Amino acid sequence: MGNDTDIDRAGLAKRFWEKKPLKKLSTQEWEALCDGCGKCCLNKLEDEDSGEVALTCVACRMLDDDTGLCSQYPIRHQFVPECIVLKPENLDSHAYWMPQTCAYRLLWEGKSLPNWHPLVTGDPESVHTAGVSVRGRTVSEFETPMEEWEDYIIEEPV
Ligand code: SF4
Repeated sequence: MGNDTDIDRAGLAKRFWEKKPLKKLSTQEWEALCDGCGKCCLNKLEDEDSGEVALTCVACRMLDDDTGLCSQYPIRHQFVPECIVLKPENLDSHAYWMPQTCAYRLLWEGKSLPNWHPLVTGDPESVHTAGVSVRGRTVSEFETPMEEWEDYIIEEPV
């Protein structure tokens, strides 16, 4: 899932995500769906009773706020073993907590990709210029006690 510094979107068929079901995508196509927003690296609060999930701007300790990317992506499981590797096979169980703008969640819900998505614009920066990414917007989970996370809830969809 997201946050690789170098998402390979070269040579992909035009609007492939509209032509193939998620489970039929190649690995490159699957990885290219990630818009690089970094929002899946934010801590969430889940209401035990309603199951509602709220996104906070309290970031995983591995997230680099300046880039909006995981600072240890290839070896992140050494530090954060619970970090999910999203795949077509486990999307059904995870889509509900993914950010509302996440491409995997949108396609899983049968929706279109937004017009700022790098696959649509051809520009990896478009997610940042659209103000959708976490770049420069997070606080550290080390410096923010969990009891205060409620004060850091961010309103989706952006
Ligand atoms: S929320 Fe979705 S689109 Fe954004 S970085 Fe995570 S996996 Fe990629």
